[in-house]
Amino acid sequence: MQSDRYDVAVIGRGMIGAAAGRHLAEAGHRTAVIGPGEPPDRRRSQGPFCSHPDEGRITRIAARTQTWADVAAASIGRYADIASRSGISFHEPCGFIAGYPDAPAWVTRAAKYGSDARLVDAEWVRETTGISITNGLGLVAEGAPAGYINPRRLVAAQTRLAELGGADVIDAAVTGVRRHDGGFALDGSFGSVIADRLLVATGAFGSDLFEWELDVERRARTTVMARLADDGRIPCLILDQPPDDRVHEIYWVPPVEYPDGSVRIKIGGNRKDTILLEPHELTEWFHGDGDPVEIDSLTENLFALLPDAPLGDIVTAPCVITGTPTGAPYIGWVDDGVAVAIAGNGSAAKSSDELGRLGATLFSDAGWDSAIDPASFAPQLL
Ligand SMILES: Cc1cc2nc3c(=O)[nH]c(=O)nc-3n(C[C@H](O)[C@H](O)[C@H](O)COP(=O)(O)OP(=O)(O)OC[C@H]3O[C@@H](n4cnc5c(N)ncnc54)[C@H](O)[C@@H]3O)c2cc1C
Repeated sequence: MQSDRYDVAVIGRGMIGAAAGRHLAEAGHRTAVIGPGEPPDRRRSQGPFCSHPDEGRITRIAARTQTWADVAAASIGRYADIASRSGISFHEPCGFIAGYPDAPAWVTRAAKYGSDARLVDAEWVRETTGISITNGLGLVAEGAPAGYINPRRLVAAQTRLAELGGADVIDAAVTGVRRHDGGFALDGSFGSVIADRLLVATGAFGSDLFEWELDVERRARTTVMARLADDGRIPCLILDQPPDDRVHEIYWVPPVEYPDGSVRIKIGGNRKDTILLEPHELTEWFHGDGDPVEIDSLTENLFALLPDAPLGDIVTAPCVITGTPTGAPYIGWVDDGVAVAIAGNGSAAKSSDELGRLGATLFSDAGWDSAIDPASFAPQLL
C-alpha cells in the first residue's frame, strides 16, 4: 500500500466498483479499490461472490427506459479507449435483437445516439439468424456496437487502468468498517486501510457491512449453457413472452468459449415467481447449480427458439441480480462520508463504466455532471 490515508476507498471490485476506482484515480483522488476477485471455486468459497462470473454480457443502446439507453451509450462510447489503454479487449459487436410489445419505443430511445436500431419482422429474423419467434411481438434489430462484452475482461481492464491511474488495488474482502479519526478504517486480511470517504459497490452483498440497510431485492437467477458451435449468425437476444411461459422474459448470449474450452450459447431469464434470497442464503445459492424450474424452462425455450441448431450438452450456474423498487441503480450518498453505486437490476454490465463514473463524480468538486437527474438514482433505505 502506498498511502497512509486515502481520499476514497471503493469497497467492491466488481463491474461498477472497478469502473468507479478507475475514474476516481484518473480524476486525481488518492484511491484504494478493495475487493476480492471471483472465487476460484464457487462451490467451496464462503464469498463474497460476484454477479459477473461469466464470459458474455449483452451490450446494446436500445433499452426499456431512456435512462438505461443513456448510460449504455455513454459506456459503449468509451469501450475502445478502455480496451486500447489497458491492452485488454472485451467487446464483440455481433448485434442484438429484442422482442417486446413496445418495440418502437426501444428504437426511439436508441436513435438519440445514432444507433441503427430498427423494427424488423419475424421472417427477417428467421432468415438472417435462424431464430424462430412466433409470439407476434414487435422486433428490434440493432447492429454494432451492440453485441456482448466479456465481463471478466472488462473488470480486469478497469482494474489495470485504475492501477495505472495511481489507485492501490487490494485483492481481499472488507470484513469490518469503523469510523476513525474523521474518516473510516476498513479491516480485512490486508490489515487496516484508512480513508476519508467511502464508495460502496458490493453488488448483491449491499449494505452488509453497515448499520443502514438498502431497499434492494436479491433475485436468484440461473443460466443454462448449451454446447453450440459459433456459426456467426446468432446475435444477442432479449425476448418478452417466450414460448415456455414459466419465465416471462429470456435473454441469450451467442456461442462463446468458456474457460474449459467448450463453446456454448448461454440462456437466462426471469422466472415469473422469482426466488428472493436473504443475505445469509447467498453462499448456499452460489454453491448450487441453480433452480430446476428455471433450468427446465430455459432449456425448453432454447430448443423452441433455435429449432434447427445442433444444441449439445448443457451445464447450469447460479447467479444473483440486485434489484431496486425503482428499476434503476442506486448512486448517491447514504450516510456521512458514505456513498453507494450499487444494484444493477440485471442490466448494469454494459453500462458499468458510466455507473462507476457517476459514482466517482460524487467525490469531485464539480459534482454530478450528467444530464440524467440524480434523483433517478437516489438510494432508498429500509
Ligand atoms: C445471470 C446474469 C446475467 C446478466 N446479464 C447481463 C447482460 O447480458 N447485460 C448486462 O448489461 N448486465 C447483465 N447482468 C447484470 C450485471 O452482471 C450486473 O448488473 C453487474 O455485474 C453488477 O455490477 P456490480 O459491480 O454492482 O456487482 P458485481 O459485479 O457483483 O460486483 C460486486 C463486487 O463486490 C464484491 N464484494 C462484496 N462484498 C464485499 C466486501 N465485503 N468487501 C469487498 N468486496 C466485496 C464482490 O466480490 C463483487 O466482486 C446479468 C446478471 C446476471 C446475474
